[in-house]
Amino acid sequence: MAQDCIFCNIVSGDIPSTKVYEDDDFLVFKDINPAAPVHLLAIPKRHIARLSEARPEDAGILGRLMLTVGAVAREQSLDAYRLIINDGAGAGQTVFHLHAHILAGRQLSEKLI
Ligand code: 5GP
Ligand code: ZN
Repeated sequence: MAQDCIFCNIVSGDIPSTKVYEDDDFLVFKDINPAAPVHLLAIPKRHIARLSEARPEDAGILGRLMLTVGAVAREQSLDAYRLIINDGAGAGQTVFHLHAHILAGRQLSEKLI
């Protein structure tokens, strides 16, 4: 756990969040500033700062993160959604704990942003 990391503090419960799914390794919760009617953040509980810092030994956690997204989308009856990972400040990453944005609930534009 990184003490000064917002999402580590959400994992520990020190910062409250609206949880949608949780297991031993992953947490999915509502984004505090939603960009779409459904805007969820899916994170590994273990602190990985950004996707490009993931290592080959993280392959399992990355794969299961994707499976978790798919399962939560099914559970939430999302028939279509967009998954976004910002990797680095230049891409808009503001919280340096790996997270995947799940956006849904409206017709998303053809553009990525
Ligand atoms: P990024 O820009 O790093 O890809 O995304 C960070 C996301 O985290 C933003 O969409 C922002 O609204 C969300 N966020 C930042 N702080 C909090 C918080 O304390 N709680 C929740 N639920 N979301 C947060
Ligand atoms: Zn963290």
